[in-house]
Amino acid sequence: MKTETFSKGARVVFLFLCLSLSFSSSSSTPLLNQDFTQSAATRTLKQVKEDVHEIHCSRERSRGAWTIIQEYLMPFVEKEQYRISTRCRLHPDNDVYRDQEQHKFHKDTNEWKCGYCKKKFYEEKYLDRHFDNRHYNLLNESHGRCLADLCGALHCDLVLDIVQRKTKCNSAAAARNKHLCESLAHSCFPVNEGPSAGRLHELFLRQFCDAHTCTGNQKPFSRGHRKQISIPYLAISILTLLLLPLVYLFVYLYQRGIKRGSQELRRISLSGRKKKSY
Ligand SMILES: [Zn+2]
Repeated sequence: MKTETFSKGARVVFLFLCLSLSFSSSSSTPLLNQDFTQSAATRTLKQVKEDVHEIHCSRERSRGAWTIIQEYLMPFVEKEQYRISTRCRLHPDNDVYRDQEQHKFHKDTNEWKCGYCKKKFYEEKYLDRHFDNRHYNLLNESHGRCLADLCGALHCDLVLDIVQRKTKCNSAAAARNKHLCESLAHSCFPVNEGPSAGRLHELFLRQFCDAHTCTGNQKPFSRGHRKQISIPYLAISILTLLLLPLVYLFVYLYQRGIKRGSQELRRISLSGRKKKSY
């Protein structure tokens, strides 16, 4: 009888324990989940940060910035015969990828060659990957040598194949880009360095910095770009130059032929008259 009561009591205690455990676990579950979600979010954030750090400098965007500098700034710098100092972040020495880009040879439409090891690739992106994997040791990743960091100031999105989404203009971002743009103008073309530096300083502000507003009145690259000779235009010009002497020769021979013909006719008519007079 005693043992029966004991077992009954034990069963009740066991049931109570089970119930309390289930309650406590259900109440603690959201907390656990929350902790897990939080830690996962922190992990993802950390990972993104690490990835960004790993990439360090976008090759594609650096290339975009380089294209803009060559197209919309260098023609004016060359015209002024101005030497950009290495203190200026737009100087070729301050592009981490410059050396690799100079060792990139585009032999044919589907032939890209590595200048370091002569390996060939079908597409530029594979050569880029090859540079990243095999020749990364040649990159000097010191601070301030990433042209991609200047993309905000230089309007890189306009030359990169990025789909322009109609988003509301962010005035804070525009102000930030304008500030970066103006600091570039000051460091690359200090006004106290003479009249050409002053003119280029002014041009830089008009060409790149004025458009960093949300009013939309100013367009970037308002001062124009490098004049490129189009290949069809060049072909037509060469063809015209080659054909022109031929046309002249034809006209000359044609006129000479007419003249000779008329002289022949006159001679015939004259000899006819002489015969008649006899
Ligand atoms: Zn190589």
